[in-house]
Amino acid sequence: MAAKKPKAKKKIRVAHELPRKRKNAIQEAMAAHKLEDRPEWDRTAKWTSTRFYRKIIKPGTMRTVHLPLLETDLGDSWPIPVTILHGIRPGPVITILGGVHGDELTGPSTCTHLLSNMFTDEGKPLDPSQIAGTIRIVPIVNLPGYRSKSRYFPDGRDLNRHFPGDPKGSTTKRVAAQTWKYLFHDADAIVDLHSAGKGRSNMPQVRAYLTHAGSNILAKAFGIEIILDSKPPSGSLRKAAIEHDIPVITYEGGGANVLDHESVKVAMHGVLNVLRSFRMIDGNPHRPRFRMLASGSHWLRAGEGGLLDMFVSAGSVIREGEVIATISDPGTPGITVDIVAPEDGLLIGAATNPFTAAGMPVGHFLPVSKHMKLLSDQIDSNGRFLVCGSQSNPVWREEHDVDEVAVEGNWSGGSVDSEWTITKEINGSQSDVFSHDEEEAEA
Ligand SMILES: [Zn+2]
Repeated sequence: MAAKKPKAKKKIRVAHELPRKRKNAIQEAMAAHKLEDRPEWDRTAKWTSTRFYRKIIKPGTMRTVHLPLLETDLGDSWPIPVTILHGIRPGPVITILGGVHGDELTGPSTCTHLLSNMFTDEGKPLDPSQIAGTIRIVPIVNLPGYRSKSRYFPDGRDLNRHFPGDPKGSTTKRVAAQTWKYLFHDADAIVDLHSAGKGRSNMPQVRAYLTHAGSNILAKAFGIEIILDSKPPSGSLRKAAIEHDIPVITYEGGGANVLDHESVKVAMHGVLNVLRSFRMIDGNPHRPRFRMLASGSHWLRAGEGGLLDMFVSAGSVIREGEVIATISDPGTPGITVDIVAPEDGLLIGAATNPFTAAGMPVGHFLPVSKHMKLLSDQIDSNGRFLVCGSQSNPVWREEHDVDEVAVEGNWSGGSVDSEWTITKEINGSQSDVFSHDEEEAEA
């Protein structure tokens, strides 16, 4: 039998929207980066049980361990679930995490789906008896924040500004130190899943410091088009990891307090691509048609305050001079002010909160000069860019899982047209009330 001809490798176009100096620095860093020979990842290397927070996980098995965020004898220690999928043979250790900010749901949802039977059962992509290396999945780091629907820890601090932490410092610094010790310091790669802050939404994008070779490789392995070359903020997990030469990327998709299916889909697609690229799971990673490496995004801000009416959303490909939003003020009827795209580009983030004040961000904009065609060739009928991985059916929901059932019964608690009203205060505690549209909602 004739040997099968290897399929020609699909070429990915790289669209640099980076300054020449930065582009050269990245090329130099990548040229200087030697692929390490890691004998401990060799198939024949010794591979034994692993230990996570005093619990033992045998090769080829998975186990959920509760890691306390605070080492305390009294009071709440804030245990969070960490699932360790310890493979059957040697390989890297990777930490996939969500919910560093408690109100960002893309990461928690992605991790939860990855840990479902659809992925971890025998023969499925994350079947531990088929994995090489060790995958740590942490659906939510800031569980206390999540419980109170807040980005912050209960002491009001942002965990992502306190890494690598201090076990004797503030509450949040202690959490940073504890997670650094158990989840990050010994990882071979970190994928940190986020969403935009309150009142905004991000299109799926990866942020990485591209002169850090390991992070550069990881960013490309994720398999999506938009990669922002950005210096990590002080105290961020990304910064601490790079300082310890651990490859790290931040994925951004969707917004706080919303569950954005497209962003979750792209995140799952990306995580599986990373695991495939690292040869930790079976299969070939999916590659985008092109990659856009970009720096120098800018924020479009409202010049006036009032009611913001957005004509485009995150992911829209926009042209210079296009009106992307108007601002009006019900207190001063009859006057509207347009917000116009300053140049051609991609709206990578957009406001979702219509209440705006002068100076508030309306859009996060990626100016694109040379490569608009790459973007405009890949848009939907609303002018939104179609991200690699966003178009497939939700991988966690197979068609045969969708049952159609008839529901019979009587309406109760109000007609179909009843509306949910805002939260009402009852004796200082909050509860959602369901009111009939014909009734006056209580203030
Ligand atoms: Zn975040």
